[in-house]
Amino acid sequence: MYDLITELYPICRSMTGKGVRQTLEIVGRGMPLRTCEVPSGTRVFDWTVPKEWNIRDAYIRDPKGKKIVDLAQSNLHVVGYSVPVRRVMKLAELKQHLFTLPKRPDWIPYRTSYFKEDWGFCMSHSQLTGLDEGDYEVCIDSSLEDGRMNYGELLLEGESSDEVLISTHICHPSLCNDNLSGIAVAAQLAHLLQPLRLRYSYRFLFIPATLGSITWLSLNQEGTEKIKHGLVLAGVGDSGKTTYKKSRRGDAAIDKAACYVLGASGEDYGVLDFVPYGYDERQYCSPAFNLPVGVLARTPHGQYPQYHTSADDLSFVQAPFLANSLLKCLSILNVLENNAVCVNQNPWCEPQLGRRGIFRSFSERARNPDFEMALLWVLNYSDGHYSLLDIAERSGLAFEAIRLAADVLIEQQLLEERPAGKP
Ligand code: ZN
Repeated sequence: MYDLITELYPICRSMTGKGVRQTLEIVGRGMPLRTCEVPSGTRVFDWTVPKEWNIRDAYIRDPKGKKIVDLAQSNLHVVGYSVPVRRVMKLAELKQHLFTLPKRPDWIPYRTSYFKEDWGFCMSHSQLTGLDEGDYEVCIDSSLEDGRMNYGELLLEGESSDEVLISTHICHPSLCNDNLSGIAVAAQLAHLLQPLRLRYSYRFLFIPATLGSITWLSLNQEGTEKIKHGLVLAGVGDSGKTTYKKSRRGDAAIDKAACYVLGASGEDYGVLDFVPYGYDERQYCSPAFNLPVGVLARTPHGQYPQYHTSADDLSFVQAPFLANSLLKCLSILNVLENNAVCVNQNPWCEPQLGRRGIFRSFSERARNPDFEMALLWVLNYSDGHYSLLDIAERSGLAFEAIRLAADVLIEQQLLEERPAGKP
């Protein structure tokens, strides 16, 4: 995952353009990722797919002719969607188009101007304060033309047509946590799930933030009924604790599974209620859709100083944190895949387990000391109301132990599993 981030880091991405296509090409290696395209001008609900933006070169030369800002040094230097400019101007005029972070004088901010035709440069504040009066040569060799917006879509078909949605944004340039980390974890998840026999189908979306999810929802309105669970992955590579933001529903199965996994992890974690700002969950959880989609992140967006600056670089994300986030995703999906509501077939007092040879030998008991307790919990609470996840929560036993006990009881015909999807 870290290698993928390193490879994608130098690419100049935006909402549209070659950088997005190049990114999708790299992400799609070894998986049947489809690069979808939507023409500029397409109406998507209340929005319109914008013109395609591409940039070849951008720089500022100081009065002595020295390049002081150069796109080749950092693609954060140019405000995303800047219109082309080639002019000489006084410092005072140029300054109206320069953006810095006075509080972090060595960092370059990240800015875009998607919906207002404008241009600008981002630079460190320490560089700005050192500029002399005089004539500056400004060049932005960009194009803003009718083209297309691209996104990547991958469907891994499981036994059921019910889907789990994994969505991540791909529109930021050289920023690692936001959101090369989400791209890397989602891609790795797709690689790991691909060879498995799964209950659910898995739909992966690699989309430009906001307009990408609006576009996908607009083009796939009917398909959204199949989405039973979903996760937006964003900011999953920093050293902060894992944070789960609940879906708008607040009590969806994904919310319960994620909260359970974080709680059982033994690590510090955070859970946030839904708020209508953040990433693409805003669209998935808009009132007409209200999909069960939550967000898995580490430090929430905007709550770390490196957010949307050049300091969100290759040193800010680390492989162990990416791995930890990936494992959390897998654990959540494991719960979704294996959770069920079961019904005790012998509910008149406890069944005589000893007679059936269910109680394990001493050596096995040592390996799985919770097994007998798990049997009793599953038998008692499997009244068609509590799920195995509810029973794990209630008992404090691991979900895996509860699932194993259920499997043994099903084998002994003491328990029946309700078909997936039935309440
Ligand atoms: Zn962002």
